[in-house]
Amino acid sequence: MRVPSHSINVRLLYVSRAAGPQTTTMTTSILAHAKANNAQQGITGVLCQGQGFFFQVIEGQRSRVNALFRRIAVDARHKDVEVLHYEEIQERLFGQWSMALVHLSVDDPMVRLQHPDFDPYSASGPQVMHQVMDLLAAGQPIELPRA
Ligand code: FAD
Repeated sequence: MRVPSHSINVRLLYVSRAAGPQTTTMTTSILAHAKANNAQQGITGVLCQGQGFFFQVIEGQRSRVNALFRRIAVDARHKDVEVLHYEEIQERLFGQWSMALVHLSVDDPMVRLQHPDFDPYSASGPQVMHQVMDLLAAGQPIELPRA
């Protein structure tokens, strides 16, 4: 049986390295744009930043997630963008956030204890997804005011 493509939802997780310092100004600018655009596109997710890395989980209609990722991948504010995980989903994990922000602190003793050798570029996708969920649990999601 054929499923209309617009009803297929996916979750994408990527990692990247910040091209420069991860300043509040840069994050605020990314978040403001992301929240306005994602809300319009029915995209939800979380952006984790810190320690020179970005992790981002993007959920939504497949074609919209793919289109957004193509734009994000060429954004000069980061580099070495690598998809770690991509899956079709029945339910969203971050449905309440058009884009939440979490500051990653891998210096957090709990995180260090659980993941002493955390290297997103060499781990398997599902493993990193799991680790990101742990990092999120240790972090503090931040919602900026709507644009
Ligand atoms: P425009 O806004 O017209 O920008 C044109 C080009 O300049 C694009 O290539 C853009 O990448 C780049 N650019 C824009 N602003 C700056 C800047 N201040 N410094 C350097 N280059 C810049 N967008 C979303 O809509 N949703 C998201 O969830 C999202 N997450 C992001 C996560 C990260 C880590 C980064 C770095 C960016 C994210 N963005 C997100 C922004 C995204 O990459 C695009 O900039 C945005 O979607 C606008 O695209 P546009 O085609 O309208 O380009």
